[in-house]
Amino acid sequence: MVNEWKLREDICRIGRRLWEKGYVAANDGNISVRAGKGRFLCTPTLVSKGFMKPADIALVDDRGEQLAGDKPRTSEILLHLEIYHELPEINAVVHAHPPHATAFAIAGMQLPNCILPEVEIFIGQVPIAEYDTPGSQDFARTILPHLRNKANTILLANHGAVCCDKTLEQAYFHMETLDQYCRILLLAREVGKVRQLPESKMRELLEIKAGLGLGDPRMACEGEACTLCGSDEFLRGFSERAIPQHTAGADGHGRGYGIEGKESEAGRPQPAPTPASAAGGAAANLRPAGLGSSSKTVQQRTMADEVERLTQLITDRIVETLSKG
Ligand SMILES: [Zn+2]
Repeated sequence: MVNEWKLREDICRIGRRLWEKGYVAANDGNISVRAGKGRFLCTPTLVSKGFMKPADIALVDDRGEQLAGDKPRTSEILLHLEIYHELPEINAVVHAHPPHATAFAIAGMQLPNCILPEVEIFIGQVPIAEYDTPGSQDFARTILPHLRNKANTILLANHGAVCCDKTLEQAYFHMETLDQYCRILLLAREVGKVRQLPESKMRELLEIKAGLGLGDPRMACEGEACTLCGSDEFLRGFSERAIPQHTAGADGHGRGYGIEGKESEAGRPQPAPTPASAAGGAAANLRPAGLGSSSKTVQQRTMADEVERLTQLITDRIVETLSKG
C-alpha cells in the first residue's frame, strides 16, 4: 500500500532542495511521483518549490485530470506523463532550470562524454530535446525519441532539464550531477584543457554500470560508428582558444576583456625568452601570457593619456584667458 502522505512530504523535501540549490527561480520547476496505477502526485502551479506543504500537492490521473488537491496541478504534467507512459519502470520525474545546465540548453551545445566517471555511470549521454512551448502536448512529445533511447536526463532546448528514475531521490540526484558536470565543464574551459578517458577505461566504466544494473545504450556500441564519448563540439578548439586579457583604461579602471578591435594575445605561444628574462629563471617563464610586459604597456599608456589631458587643460585655460582679454 502506497503511503501518499509520505510521498507528498518527499516531494516537498526535494522541492526545497531544488530551490536551495538555485535550480528553480520564483515558481519554476515541477516534481511528480507515481502513486499507484493511473495515479500521480505532482507539484501545484504558481507555488515556489521551496515552500510547499504536503496538502499543496495535487493528485492526477494518467491523462493529467486533477483528482484531488486544493491548488491546480502543474501545467507541465503532460511532460511527466509522457515519461511514465513510455517507461513503466520510472516512478519519479524532476523538472528544473539549473543555471549551468540551462546555459548548455540555450546554446544548443551537446555535452561531451568520457570525462567524469560518476557522470558516465549515473546519467550517461545527455541529449537535447527540441524546443516547443512549455506546457503543450507538442512540448511533452519532444522528449519521446530520447526516452526511447533510455535517457534518464534530458536537456530541454531554451528551457531547462528533466530527469527521471525509479525513486524521487535518484531523479533529483541526476539533476545535481548534471548541473555540477556543466559547471565543471565551464570551469575547465577557463583552465583551457580537458583530458578525455581512453576508450578502454570508458568500457571499464560501462561494465561497472552494467554490474550496478544500470542500462546504457553505449554498451552495445562497437566499431567505427561507435560514439562512446558523444559530441566533441564543446571541447573543439579548447586549448587554442584565446584567453581574454583584462585591460585597464586611462583612469586605471577595468575596460572589460580584450582591447576593442584587437585580438587578445593571451593564449598564443609565448615568445622565446630574452637573455634578461632567462636570467630571471623559470619563474619568469611561468608568468601567464599577457601579464608582466603588458602591464608595463598599460602603465606607459596611462601616463601618456594623463600628459595629453593636462596639455589640453592648459591650452583651454590659455584660450579662455586670451578671449577674456
Ligand atoms: Zn520549466
